[in-house]
Amino acid sequence: METDQNKEVVQEATKKCPFCAEEIKAEAIKCKHCGATVDAKVRKLEDKKQNKSKEGLFLQGMNLGCGIIMVIVIIIIVIVIIAVSMPH
Ligand SMILES: [Zn+2]
Repeated sequence: METDQNKEVVQEATKKCPFCAEEIKAEAIKCKHCGATVDAKVRKLEDKKQNKSKEGLFLQGMNLGCGIIMVIVIIIIVIVIIAVSMPH
């Protein structure tokens, strides 16, 4: 009887990795088979970090694009002002 109970405990202490479907320990944070983060809390934290770095790169790109567009717009405005103020 005792061996049966032990088997049950071992089965309870494992879970399936949602990424590779391999058996891993229930307390595992990362899957030993595919390396994916299985713990929901840790995965959320990692997602936040990844999103932040992606946002940073995106914003940097936006700033660069906006800067170029701003310079072009200012040049066009200056040309228009000069053209309008020029006596015909
Ligand atoms: Zn896995």
